Amino acid sequence: MVSNLMDKIVALCKRRGFIYPGSEIYGGLNGTWDLGPLGTLLANNIKNEWWKSIVLSRDDVVGLDSSILYHPKVWEASGHVASFTDPLIECKICHERFRADHKKDISEHEKMHDKQKWTEIKPFNLMFKTYVGPIDNEENKTYLRPETAQGIFINFQNVINSTRVKIPFGIAQIGKGFRNEITTGNFLFRVREFEMMELEYFVNPGLDEKWYEYWREQRLSWYLKLGIKKNNIKLVDIPKKDIAHYARKATELWYNWPFMGFGELEGIVNRGDYDLSQHAKYSGRDLSYLDQDTKEKYLPYVIEPSVGLGRTMLAFLLDSYYEDDPSTHSTGSGQASSGPSGKRVVLKLHPKLASVKVAVFPLLANKLPLVNLSKDIYYNLKKQINGMVAFDDRGNIGKRYYSQDEIGTPFCVTVDFQSLEDKTVTARDRDTTKQERVKIENLEKYLSTKLN
Ligand code: ATP
Repeated sequence: MVSNLMDKIVALCKRRGFIYPGSEIYGGLNGTWDLGPLGTLLANNIKNEWWKSIVLSRDDVVGLDSSILYHPKVWEASGHVASFTDPLIECKICHERFRADHKKDISEHEKMHDKQKWTEIKPFNLMFKTYVGPIDNEENKTYLRPETAQGIFINFQNVINSTRVKIPFGIAQIGKGFRNEITTGNFLFRVREFEMMELEYFVNPGLDEKWYEYWREQRLSWYLKLGIKKNNIKLVDIPKKDIAHYARKATELWYNWPFMGFGELEGIVNRGDYDLSQHAKYSGRDLSYLDQDTKEKYLPYVIEPSVGLGRTMLAFLLDSYYEDDPSTHSTGSGQASSGPSGKRVVLKLHPKLASVKVAVFPLLANKLPLVNLSKDIYYNLKKQINGMVAFDDRGNIGKRYYSQDEIGTPFCVTVDFQSLEDKTVTARDRDTTKQERVKIENLEKYLSTKLN
């Protein structure tokens, strides 16, 4: 286990342009983070992999992109106005507020005062309020959505009427959610604004159990295929007494976080027909499904895998972080590719997730034929490779390898003097640090095969 792993990830993310604190020049805004250039690429890659696995590779799921603001009745129907709350407790001495069920925070705080006094526990609604139009009154009050799921339920009939979907089928959505969390922390783990990736999979009520099992396994295998270590992730069934009132069953995918041990990464819930029946009641519309073959009419049940993009990104970053001794690796130039600490830092991100796929270097920046050839290769790869290609001619080659290892670039291509003679380059693998000479004319094929 790497010591101070979270601190190292937070520092690396800022230094290399993955993630910056939100509104930093004004002292920051709690619970917000901004994605930098590399973070944007990583986030897009994660979203693409999710979308590919949930929508594009299947024939039973369609996509949706609903607005963030909904009619206020949506939130009455869904139960969020009445019960999307966390238990709030306040310290009577310093007025700091905590989530009453976050026992660790509470006991930490109790060490600060000799005689601790707490207020009663009160429910605190996590939805951000806002007003639609120029008049700030109750009638115009609505909320920033705390989840994307309701946007799917309120479009259920639209999707049925405008597409050829038949039960079982799903509607997937990626979009922002907002929660005015009582306390935030642990970097991207608990924030107030975050992107969510959610699937609502509609099934025949008698078959919900089977589909629930199916989605639990699908979601676990998605993480494993993208490189999360088996020992760091597990499915945990949530006991009935701890699940939301509308849920029939709930499982969580837990990741082994360095700051808390195993805890929630993703939720997978059997929501029954709660949402559709509530929206049918509040809207007065018939939201039932008519099976064209059997003429049976019913409200489908829903299986929902739901995850925050930031939490997923944090898991991938933590899981892929390695430090090793540079003396055990060859850089091909006789120089160790190590950072200031002397350690080689590597993000062993799955190639499909890596922000930069390939980096191209001229061995020496002041030799024009090397620079020209490497620029040609760079611009060609930029057109050919599915993903970001970078160019670097700063410092020595060892430093450039170090710099790409640290952001997780799977391959570095170096143009050297031999390249000018025999039209080959070296391709260096991030994980093994081994280099192979590859013909320039075969380079695109070589890299594409390795990256896929
Ligand atoms: P918790 O009990 O930890 O507050 P929750 O059970 O309310 O979380 P869900 O409503 O199940 O969370 O949210 C679905 C997913 O959205 C979570 O598994 C997580 O990945 C993500 N998520 C929820 N809240 C946050 C947050 N404040 N910051 C980042 N991601 C979040």
